[in-house]
Amino acid sequence: MYVMSIADIKAGLHTKYSHQTIFLQATDEFLKSLEESGLADDFSDEEFRRLERLLVPERIISFRVDWIDDVGKLQSNIGYRVQFNSALGPYKGGLRFDATVNEDVLKFLGFEQIFKNALTGLQLGGGKGGSDFNPKGKSDNEIRSFCQAFMVKLHHHIGLEKDVPAGDIGVGGREIGYLYGMYKLITNSDEGVLTGKDELFGGSCQRTEATGYGVVYFAEAMAMHHALELKGMRAVVSGAGNVATYTALKLLDKGVTVLTLSDRGGYLHKPDGLTEKDIKHVSQDKNKGIELKNCTVEGAIYNEGAVWGVEADAYFPCATQNEMNEAAAKQVAKSAKLVVEGANMPLDAGAQKVMKEAGILYAPGKAANAGGVSVSGIEMAQNAGHYAWTCEQIDGELQRIMQYIHLQCVECGTEDGKVDYVKGANIAGFRRVFEAMRKLGW
Ligand code: NDP
Repeated sequence: MYVMSIADIKAGLHTKYSHQTIFLQATDEFLKSLEESGLADDFSDEEFRRLERLLVPERIISFRVDWIDDVGKLQSNIGYRVQFNSALGPYKGGLRFDATVNEDVLKFLGFEQIFKNALTGLQLGGGKGGSDFNPKGKSDNEIRSFCQAFMVKLHHHIGLEKDVPAGDIGVGGREIGYLYGMYKLITNSDEGVLTGKDELFGGSCQRTEATGYGVVYFAEAMAMHHALELKGMRAVVSGAGNVATYTALKLLDKGVTVLTLSDRGGYLHKPDGLTEKDIKHVSQDKNKGIELKNCTVEGAIYNEGAVWGVEADAYFPCATQNEMNEAAAKQVAKSAKLVVEGANMPLDAGAQKVMKEAGILYAPGKAANAGGVSVSGIEMAQNAGHYAWTCEQIDGELQRIMQYIHLQCVECGTEDGKVDYVKGANIAGFRRVFEAMRKLGW
């Protein structure tokens, strides 16, 4: 009987989805880990067929979203939900509103989300959604109008036991509020179908901070495992949104000097270190739509371009996918001891290779940024039980989950005394999902 191989599966994906380069980047990385682990060496034909199915979303929904702008003009965008894999539980993953959103980007994000969610140990499947709606420069009224129109279309496809979206780039607390408000009106129910809600109506304490805090808890576990200490390190943080802000604030708590924050235009560099007041000031300005170049922070210099030329001990890319390429990684490798991804796949394949060859401790987003989805899972549990946990309980659980994810990466990624966190995260996540698929008869 003809038995497939990982190479066959990869070739098949590249033929079929040659136009989806970001999705292929994510699947290539995953298949490489699987190949290196030797796990598939004895796969049966049935197991290869199951692996093939894991690489195809269970469902992709796309819909037109019509809304009215402030001058009364009808506008249209495309909305999507990629329901990638539900073996472990309801689809779970954020919504991204950004001009760059398309099916390729959301398939990559949904695919990563499957393994991230599996690593948390919670019962969550993987999905992702969003729209090519560009929130930049839109009024509050236009944002609300778009969110409401988006939910009119999306509500058919989500549900507490079916699919529970959250935020991502361009979707923060305000947007989740408008989306959830519309869901409640349409369905006459209060089933908490979105996470990242305000605490006034079912949101969890610390969901806003969870991704960034979790990144730092993961970095701490990584440092400790390698007899390093975060305290006293100098860090470069990219991005100036949700993940970057709370990564930077938690780093300050841990005694780390935070040198930078960035946005699409450039970066703020404060050689003496940004203070809590500076970071909160930048965050408030960004929430008002002010670009970094127009944020005034005493002692900080604004530079155009990417942040990777700034020398530091630890790097936290927290903006977006492929923000660090091979050339940038070579600059980073000159001084880095740790590179921990807050964003999803911010290092491209070339940059990952540089980290590996230089022997730099490097954690992929699917492990390090799982704190957000973890607290989302806890928000779902609180909603189901109609009971709010205390912030201390939630922070304790977040720390426990991040340490558990780190442990799984070590268990599945250690070879010759070195931890390959990419391999560890891919293999640990894969094992759980694949076994569930088998037991479900898929
Ligand atoms: P936000 O929208 O709050 O912030 C995004 C930040 O990244 C902004 O500073 C933005 O700059 C910058 N950015 C976006 N696109 C680019 C680009 N092409 N080049 C340079 N900078 C860019 O998003 P989040 O902080 O929520 O998300 C950041 C990353 O973290 C994403 O990869 C997301 O998928 C990931 N993530 C988020 C989670 C969450 O809980 N929110 C959970 C897990 C992962 P500007 O202000 O100029 O737009």
